[in-house]
Amino acid sequence: MARNRFFIDHISEDVALTGDEFRHAKNVLRLREGSEATLLDGSGAEFSAVVTKVERDRILLHVLKKSATDREPQANVFLLIGALKGDKTELVVQKAVELGVSRVGVFSSRYCSAYLNENKLERLRRVSREAAKQCMRTVAPEVVCFENFADALRSAEGYRNKLFACEFLEGSEGSLRGLAGSSALVVGSEGGFSEEEFALAKSLGFTGVSLGKRILRAETAAIALLSIVMYESGELG
Ligand code: SAH
Repeated sequence: MARNRFFIDHISEDVALTGDEFRHAKNVLRLREGSEATLLDGSGAEFSAVVTKVERDRILLHVLKKSATDREPQANVFLLIGALKGDKTELVVQKAVELGVSRVGVFSSRYCSAYLNENKLERLRRVSREAAKQCMRTVAPEVVCFENFADALRSAEGYRNKLFACEFLEGSEGSLRGLAGSSALVVGSEGGFSEEEFALAKSLGFTGVSLGKRILRAETAAIALLSIVMYESGELG
């Protein structure tokens, strides 16, 4: 069921929905005693449950059954994107979650004009949760933030494929075909990257990737590169 999906930290036989999930369940989805719901604890499993009581500030549910699902991607893909203006970062997080990303990092870099704060980060995490529910995932990808670009690049340590979308490259330095193993992708903000930032990425093991002869908007580049990587990793189609 695509509706009535809720994330709860710890699931036991009887659980309570509180906070944001409670308000959404009560005011938007109008859950009643007897309503069915699917609970998610981020472990990859789904729990079917039934509402036993609607109280003033929480909804009580009884868990009926735990089931395994296979909708979580096998490929572990980490998308790092420069902070974008307006609600563009939210758009990228939403699409990335649908496409099967495992984790999103938002960074600040030299030509980045947008900034992140706790409120914006919290909003991005909510976007991740809502997108995960909407596309029937059982895990809401984590969203993390890096004020320092070098830290963002270093957070990709250990990923097998480290790809850096570079708008001033004539052609890709390596092939994206048939990728195996985990991948970390770096895409710049509207302002793009400096030569020094690309050099730093190369020194940390990234491969420069071109997305063709046209300059794509940052959000297009992020969604395009992620789609290619998910496809080549066998996750789409
Ligand atoms: N302001 C820059 C463009 C930045 S585009 C300029 O005028 O040149 C934003 C980001 O999208 C880039 O940093 C890069 O990561 C990605 N991107 C856009 N077009 C690309 C292309 N043709 N190849 C590789 N990456 C691209």
